[in-house]
This record gives sequence, C-alpha cells and structure tokens, in this order.
Amino acid sequence: MTQIELRNIVKQYDSQDQVTLTGYKGEPALNRINLTINDGETLSVVGPSGCGKSTLLKVIAGLEYPNSGQVIYSGHDFTEIKPQDRGVGMVFQDYALYPTRKGRGNLSYFFEVHQRTEEEEQARIKATADLMGVDFDLLLGQIPDTLSGGQKQRVAIARCIVRDPNIFLMDEPIVNLDAKLRERTRIEIKKLLRQFGITTIYVTHDQQEAIFMGDRIVVMRKGNIEQVGTFDDLYYSPANLFVAQFIGTPPIAVIPAVIENGQIAIETTRWMLPPDIALPNGAVRVGVRPEGWRLDTDDGISMAVRHIERIPTERAAFVIGAVAGAHTSIVAPVDYPMREVTRVTPDWEQALFFEAEGETVLHTPGVPDLF
Ligand code: ADP
Repeated sequence: MTQIELRNIVKQYDSQDQVTLTGYKGEPALNRINLTINDGETLSVVGPSGCGKSTLLKVIAGLEYPNSGQVIYSGHDFTEIKPQDRGVGMVFQDYALYPTRKGRGNLSYFFEVHQRTEEEEQARIKATADLMGVDFDLLLGQIPDTLSGGQKQRVAIARCIVRDPNIFLMDEPIVNLDAKLRERTRIEIKKLLRQFGITTIYVTHDQQEAIFMGDRIVVMRKGNIEQVGTFDDLYYSPANLFVAQFIGTPPIAVIPAVIENGQIAIETTRWMLPPDIALPNGAVRVGVRPEGWRLDTDDGISMAVRHIERIPTERAAFVIGAVAGAHTSIVAPVDYPMREVTRVTPDWEQALFFEAEGETVLHTPGVPDLF
C-alpha cells in the first residue's frame, strides 16, 4: 500500500524555458504542485488539454524529473528513484503491447526480464487471469493484432496487474475505444480498482469518466491545481468560476445580476433573496445549474428557447436557450412543449454567486445533505 505526496513540484520542459519570438516565456507544465494521494484511493485528474495532467503522471512515475520539489512514496523521498524501481504500473491510451507476443507472453515478459521463477510467473498469471474475469483466458492465446481495442486494453491492464504494482497510473486508458466499449470497459476497470485497493491516479479529459472513476477528483489548469475534492465538493462548492464551469453537464449558466438590499435583479426582473444569502450591494454573476431552475413561474425572467433536447431514458429533457444573454440549460419533464419564450426563476437556495469580474466565489449552496 502506498501513499503519494507531491511537494512543491515544478516541472518546466527545456523548450518551455526559451523565450519565443513574441517574447513570451512559457508557463511551467507544473507550477508548484502540492498534492497527497491517499493509500488505496483512486484519484482522477481532469483539465483542459495541455494543463499538465500527463506531466503530473510522468513525474510520479519517474519518466520525467521535476526541476524542483519532491515526490514522496509512503514517507520516503523517491524524487531521484528510477521509474523501474518505483513499482508503478502504467496503462496508456495506446496499449503499447509487445506485438509479436501473445497475451500470455505480454504478461510473462516482466518475469523473464526480472528472472523470476517459473512457479511465481505461473501463479501470478493465473491469479491475474482469474481477476480479469471469465473470458480472459482466451485473450492469453492471441497476438495483439487479432484483438479488438477493448481486448488489447484488458491485456494491457492485466500486464500491469501481474507485476503487483504499488501504484497504478492510467493516462486516458480508454480514450481510443468506441463509445459503447468505453462504457463497458470503464465499469470493468472500476471493478478491478475496487478489488485491488491499489493507489491509482487516473488521467482523463472527460469529466464524466473522472467522476465515475475517482474517489476524489483533481481539476487542473495551466500547470496549477484549481481544486481537489469529491464530485459533490466540486459541484456544490467550487473553488472558483473555472471549476464551476468545468464540472457539470450541461454546464452551469452564468448570468450578470445586481444585488440591492437583499434583492437581486437580472435585467429588469427582481426577486427577494433568501435571508441566509447575505451579499453586499453591487454587480455580481449568478451561477445556476440545469436542475436549479423553476419553469413557467409568474415571477420569472424570460428565456429565449433555442431547442429542447429530450432524453427519453431519463424521462427528462433539457430546455436550451439564453437568459439575459447567457447560455442556459434547464432540466424539464421529457414532454415539455417547445415554445419560443418561457419564464424561469432560479431556485436561489441552489444558486452560486461570483464576483462580477474575475473568478472569485461569493457564495455557494454547499454540499446538500441528501441522507
Ligand atoms: P495534458 O496531459 O494536460 O494535455 P501535458 O502534461 O501533456 O498536458 O502538457 C503540459 C504542458 O507541457 C503543455 O504546454 C505541453 O505543450 C508541454 N509539454 C508536454 N510535454 C512536453 C515535452 N516533452 N517537451 C516540451 N513541452 C512539453
């Protein structure tokens, strides 16, 4: 079991050091990262492309060394330790299976290179195959070229497990699979991660996948960590506007408003705010999630409806359009009628408030007590 701690990690690639023709010196790929990954937890890392997710993983693996800062494994400084001595298992999007070896050969390679006994090799491969599920034995007899993307990825994961790693590092492991297979494979991976209880870091650009996989989620931007927390933390108490907009599908509507003596106005429509939302007078932006609206209200503001996206399996629909010029999606009954304009009111208890400029949060509803 392994706990990982990153202390003040800075990673700047050589090419990022150079001042470009425009005089711009690139930001570091990782800019003083502090992060603890608990023993046995799966931590998802999300963020826009280029924000430093893969670099974070590589620094933990030892495939890249930080310019400064420390990588600590269970209290020991591993910053300078070579990747092969860290006990990490890595699964990447391109599988990187040995093409000439069958499934079994891919699993046994590690034991051959490390001159382990035949007995250990057989026992570990059997234990791994058992863990991987019913039809996995079939894959062991085939060369990678004859396997589907999903099957290749299963072999790649098994090749990782068979080595009995201390930590698992996964970088977009299922991004290359088609949608249906991705759904199935992510359930499978999650089940396996539960069974192992191995500390895992799971990088993805897909927030749904991050939410599904991670016990906690890290949101990164431009080499920085914006927030670490459970999905509920990020959704109901985002650290800033960026996290609020990044987490949630469809995204939160962010609408200019004005606070005046306990009242709030969006354009010319005014409401009383609940007394527990105490905000100073002045311009703000209010953030309303799709489920945080009431439709067809007498005191509502008009919404210009662009279209209705119906999701029959959920018996729901999204009404999509604009409120005070801000892109807005609202959850509605599946048979909600299409009309050009409808009147809507935020449920103020669920709303988030941000400064009029910048990204600072003024008020969030906090994580609801559902149970
Ligand atoms: P992500 O995985 O979130 O897409 P990366 O960690 O791959 O982000 O990249 C972070 C930043 O570091 C980007 O600006 C990227 O261009 C830069 N970068 C990544 N790898 C290298 C490299 N080998 N050499 C130079 N710059 C790199």
